[in-house]
Amino acid sequence: MEKLIIFSPLITFIIGYNAGINFSRIFAVLFSVCAAIFYTSHLVVIVTLLTLCLAEFFLEKFHRNMNSLRRIFNNKLRNLVDELSSLKKDSDTTKLALVSNEKVIKNILHIYELSKDIAAYIDLEKMFSLIVDSLNQQFIIKDVAMKIFDGNTIFRKGIFFDINETIKIPKILENMIHLPLNIGDKYFGVISAKIPPLFEKDAKFVNEISAFVEELNPAIQRAILYLKLEEMSRTDGLTGLYRRGYFNQRLKEEELLAKRSNGRFSILMMDIDHFKKVNDTYGHQAGDMVIKTVSEILKNSIYETDFAARYGGEEFVVIFPKTDPDGLKIKSEKIRQKIQDSEITIGLEKIKVTASFGIAHYPKDSQLAEEVLHKADISLYKSKQTGRNKVTEFK
Ligand code: GH3
Ligand code: MG
Ligand code: MG
Repeated sequence: MEKLIIFSPLITFIIGYNAGINFSRIFAVLFSVCAAIFYTSHLVVIVTLLTLCLAEFFLEKFHRNMNSLRRIFNNKLRNLVDELSSLKKDSDTTKLALVSNEKVIKNILHIYELSKDIAAYIDLEKMFSLIVDSLNQQFIIKDVAMKIFDGNTIFRKGIFFDINETIKIPKILENMIHLPLNIGDKYFGVISAKIPPLFEKDAKFVNEISAFVEELNPAIQRAILYLKLEEMSRTDGLTGLYRRGYFNQRLKEEELLAKRSNGRFSILMMDIDHFKKVNDTYGHQAGDMVIKTVSEILKNSIYETDFAARYGGEEFVVIFPKTDPDGLKIKSEKIRQKIQDSEITIGLEKIKVTASFGIAHYPKDSQLAEEVLHKADISLYKSKQTGRNKVTEFK
């Protein structure tokens, strides 16, 4: 018991440390009572009580220190957690910014690629149809109009709307976007398009679409110049055949000649079958290749004295002077067969096309050349109506 009393301050401290200050107090009182009961000497009791008080005093102090340390530690921990969460937030916003930057760069690169593909063409009409395709693909834009000031040429796709010719910078007005075509301060045209509501208030959209048109500006101007040159020439650039304008002139001359000499001539019209499918499946360049190959077949199948022209996109027309109608029917069949048999190499693929024909004769079907041409066209239409890949003679 004596030893227990001697060690009582230490035991009190340990209890207080582990079980809390109230337990240590109860224990200290118990010890004091025991000391008073077992030891009559007041001195021992006083010393014991004093020691116990001292132990409690230190314990109290220790607890207070511990609490303030805990508070400091908790505060530091809270600050650290706050800092960490703000750091995480920062990194999230940086990540988001990076992703959106990457998207912008990707879009711009894509736009650049599209404009490069379009710039590879020289034909303004084809360019316009590719521009519409690209706008549709990139911005879900379907209704587009392009006006070229020189010659007042307008190309349209989709619904009709007014074109704003006066704008000098890309501008959204109501639900339309107007994009000037210019090189420096030379304004040569405008592209107007109806924009989907999704993009109406999107500044990024205006930037991207204007970047696209800006890339195209030199190519469009080149195509305008080419068109002017082409109009001045008699032959078509792709096929080397005569152009429609010159064909009409020649048809009149042929009519006069035939009238004067009581002669005759025949007209053949030809149109490639399902040509849109070729363009859609293999692209416009492949389509051009098909037009070129078919025109070669046609050129190689006729005499020097016959006159072949490219009448439209994939439509051809031939004047056969002084020709026997039955002989022309056989000849047309041969051309049709040759086209059907030929294989056209497109990259690694070989494709086949067919064409439909219509023929009419002067003066058998009409005494007017223009009407003969119309009747050849009606016959061609009949070929299309009755299954394509065939020759129809006007009846
Ligand atoms: P059909 O058998 O009824 O003639 O069908 P089709 O698909 O040939 O129809 P249509 O004659 O109406 O289509 C001709 C297409 O040819 C439309 C146009 O996009 C395309 N085209 C016109 N000119 C050119 C050109 O110079 N190059 C290319 N690649 N395509 C052209
Ligand atoms: Mg066709
Ligand atoms: Mg056609």
